[in-house]
This record gives sequence, structure tokens and C-alpha cells, in this order.
Amino acid sequence: MHPPRFTADAPSTDPVERDSTVGDVRPASSALTTDRALHTYDVIIAGCGPTGAMLAAELRLHDVRVLVLERETEPASAVRIVGLHIRSLELMAMRGLLDRIRPHGRQRPASAFFAAIAKPAPKGLDSRYAYLLGIPQPVIERLLEEHAIELGAQVRRGLAVAGFEQDDEGVTVALADGEQLRSRYLVGCDGGRSTVRKLLGVGFPGEPARTESLMGEMDVGVPQEEIAATVAEIRETHQRFWLRPAGVGVYSVLVPAAGVSDRAEPPTLDDFKHQLRAIAGTDFGVHSPRWLSRFGDATRLADSYRVGRVLLAGDAAHIHPPIGGQGLNLGVQDAFNLGWKLAARIRGWAPEALLDTYQAERRPVAEAVLDNTRAQTELLSTEPGAQAVRRLLTELMDFDEVNLHLLKKITAIGIRYDFGAGPDLLGRRLPDMDIKQGHLYGLLHRGRGLLLDRTERLRVGGWSDRVDHLADPTAELDVPCVLLRPDGHVAWIGDDQQDLDDHLSRWFGEPAH
Ligand SMILES: Cc1cc2nc3c(=O)[nH]c(=O)nc-3n(C[C@H](O)[C@H](O)[C@H](O)COP(=O)(O)OP(=O)(O)OC[C@H]3O[C@@H](n4cnc5c(N)ncnc54)[C@H](O)[C@@H]3O)c2cc1C
Repeated sequence: MHPPRFTADAPSTDPVERDSTVGDVRPASSALTTDRALHTYDVIIAGCGPTGAMLAAELRLHDVRVLVLERETEPASAVRIVGLHIRSLELMAMRGLLDRIRPHGRQRPASAFFAAIAKPAPKGLDSRYAYLLGIPQPVIERLLEEHAIELGAQVRRGLAVAGFEQDDEGVTVALADGEQLRSRYLVGCDGGRSTVRKLLGVGFPGEPARTESLMGEMDVGVPQEEIAATVAEIRETHQRFWLRPAGVGVYSVLVPAAGVSDRAEPPTLDDFKHQLRAIAGTDFGVHSPRWLSRFGDATRLADSYRVGRVLLAGDAAHIHPPIGGQGLNLGVQDAFNLGWKLAARIRGWAPEALLDTYQAERRPVAEAVLDNTRAQTELLSTEPGAQAVRRLLTELMDFDEVNLHLLKKITAIGIRYDFGAGPDLLGRRLPDMDIKQGHLYGLLHRGRGLLLDRTERLRVGGWSDRVDHLADPTAELDVPCVLLRPDGHVAWIGDDQQDLDDHLSRWFGEPAH
């Protein structure tokens, strides 16, 4: 294979893609059949972290042939506890996954996310899932991977994407061991150091890490009460420090990395002991580490999420400090936004511009997350000025509106995609609500569009292979009709059939008949 190259985002000559603009929506169209025969896979995903696994599952809902290539032979072992925030819990509920995930986590109040400023959860959190689910990252990764495999995705471990070439029809992917595979699209979900992004030549501007932290799990040699009192006192001024129980007999430890351990080398237990003594005056007798890691607060955003047939999602597209616990959530939500659009392209019914809306919608969301982590990072500084701003914000958060505004940022329930002029609800998510048939999100498990029709006289007609129709759904809906995209965002509000048809075309392509 030649050194990796890529073709610029030129108009495609792919017969299926041209068909998509002239109304051939049948998956078994001859163009699609021919094209499928040329490609072993429709989509290859590099990386089986949470983003890659979620994307694979979303694509499988639409019968897309997916291969996930994961560099590591075994799932990750670092038991970092992450939090699933409200919007991610809603996505899991939309696909029928939440009941499976919830027993593995611990529900905590939806509060104290912004710069760890402790406040009660604000009023007005309009969600059935208004809590944080604390869950070990390896568990959520395993559950998402299992879900993808159950839906028919292939996952091959121990195989790293090392190069690729794209042309008008597809992408040839080269693995580190020399094997070559062919697919119609490649998605880099391969984390912050993404090989796919680097090979694409996509810029990743931003700020390098200013501070680094050490995090790990280990045993301690002193009683819990002794630890709790010391830690509480230190945390009044040191936000980048904790020592807290993380399971039976195990403690999670976070300390600044400054001054110890070489960046190029994995951290050692001695590094942790040294830092604990420097901050707390004791190393608490820590011993028997389960795992140790080092991470920084670099903040970067990819210039582009797509070049031709190659796309980026999750940490491959954006990195930022873990404050507020948003990275995994953001990646999973990227996958949720991209999945049905890429599937539509492959199934042949995507309107021409649909795939471009992925970057148009998700890059500004990532930009806003990067910004809120920048702000939170400043608020964690021990400098007197930053501490004064922190005290001021702490006061302001007593106003419910301020508290709610910040919480919506972190939990991603305040997102409004720009779908053009219209009522405030347009472009926003619709919360799960009671309907006569149960819960609204229960109707979205298959990843299809949904028309909620209180007028009971509208039709989805030729789009019924992609969009479900529910007449007289709920008294909670205070507009006549709503068209939901497969990701649960409101694509249209109204009561006029022609207007509806125009919007069905905009989001779901040409009607089948
Ligand atoms: C200390 C800490 C705490 C955090 N807490 C939270 C939290 O509470 N909430 C939250 O939402 N986020 C949190 N995050 C962030 C979260 O861990 C990441 O944002 C998340 O893992 C990103 O998922 P991903 O699938 O995009 O990338 P990754 O999880 O990095 O997965 C990428 C995968 O790609 C594989 N890979 C890499 N290169 C290749 C290749 N060439 N070919 C094939 N496979 C490849 C890797 O092995 C890996 O499995 C935290 C991060 C840190 C460091």
C-alpha cells in the first residue's frame, strides 16, 4: 500500500450517493447491491471506546455492515469512575439501554458539576432522568460493546488502524500488521491521540496541557475517619486533590503531577506518596496500587469532523480537562448524532446535505464544552483572584436560574441545534413524556423518526419506512404536531401537511412512493 493519502471532499461519483438525491430509497436497490458487493464493510470504525461502540450500535439499527477495529487486545482496566449526565441517560433510555446500565451505577443528585461548586440541584430540570449515574468507565464500555455486538456489529481486537487511502467509492484501511480492508466510510473514534485524525492532516488547534494530574486506585494504611478529616480540610483550597473510597478497601487518589514523574514514563506509587506527603504531610500508608495514570488539561478541537469519506467523533475530535465529567458524554452524543445520518447515506436515502449537518451541529457543541472546561479550570486555581471569582460565582449560583443554566451546559440538555427560524422548541430535544402507550422514548428504540400528531389528520406517507406516526400521543405536548429525528431532536412543529412533507424531505430524503 502507498503511504496514506486522502482525497479532498469532492462531489461523490458513488452511484448510491447520486441515487439518494433522485429518490431511490430502497435498501435493496441495484446500485446499493452492486456497491455493497465491492465493499466488505459499509463502515469501519477505528477504536472501540464508548464513542466507537455507541456509533457501531446506532449504525446496526439500520442494518449497516460495521466493523470496529480496536488496538487493545483486552478492554481497558483503569477503573476511572465517570458520570453519565442527563442527556446521555436520555439517549440510553431512547435505545432501551438504561435499564441494563442503571444497576451497574450509583445515582447521585444532579448538582455540584460546575467547578465542583456544591449547590442543591436547581428547580426546573425538565427530565425523567434528572440525576448523575456514576459508573466505572470499563463497565459502560463493556455494556456498549456488548450492545453493539448483539445488534450485529463485528468487533476485532488487537488490530490498530495504521493507514488508509480514500477514493470516490470508498476507503482502503491498512492495519498495523499489513492487512488491508475495504469499506465505504471510515470513522476515527480512536481517542485524543487519534491516528485517523493525524493521517487526515486535520488540524487540532488549542492549548497544550498547563497542569497534569496523577490518578490511581490503591489501598491505604490508616482508618477512614482519619483520612476524611484531613482530606476535607485540604480540599477547601486544593481542588485538584482527593483521596476517597472507590470500592471495598480501595481508595481513588488524585494529586497534581507537577514536579514528579517524567511525562514519558508511567507514574509510580512513589510519585503518589511524594505528592501526598507534600500536600497532606502524610502518604496515608498507600500501597498495592490497582492502576496508576497521568492526564493533562490540554484543550483542543479538530478543525474539521469530516474529510470526504472519513469522519471523526469523540475524543478524536475534541479533548479538554475532565472537570465536569463531560468527555465520554460528548463522544457518545456525537455518535448518536452521526449514526442515523451515516446510515441514511449508506441506505441511500440521505438528503445531500444531511451528513454535513453532523459537523455543523456537533462542532459548536464541543466548542462550548471546551469553553466551559476552560472557565472551570480557572475557578479551580488557588490564586487569590480566581478564588474570589469562585466565591462570587458560588453566591450567584444561589439564584436558581444561574444554577440551572450552568447545569444545563454540563448535562447537555440545553442544546438547541440551529434548524433555522422557528419556535424555541425547534432544534431542542424533547424530554421523555408520558404518552398513552407508555413513555415517549420507548417509541424511539429502533432509531427511526417519529411524528407526534395531535391533529390526527397528518400522514408520513412515503416516508413510513423511515418515520413512525403516532396519532393523539399525549396531553403533555402543547403544540399540534412535532416531527422528531432519530436522535430525539425536534425537526419540525406545525399542523400543515405540505409543510410537514417539505420537512420530511429535508431530513429524511425523497419519499419511497
Ligand atoms: C481522569 C479522567 C476522568 C474522566 N471523567 C469523565 C467523566 O466523569 N465523564 C465523562 O463523560 N468523561 C470523563 N472523562 C473523559 C472520558 O474518559 C473520555 O472522553 C472518553 O473515554 C472518550 O471516549 P472515546 O471513545 O472518544 O475515546 P477513548 O475512550 O480514548 O477510546 C479510543 C479507543 O480507540 C483505541 N485506539 C486508539 N488508536 C487506535 C488505532 N489506531 N486503531 C484502533 N483502535 C485505536 C483505543 O485503544 C481506545 O480503546 C475522564 C477522563 C479522565 C482522564
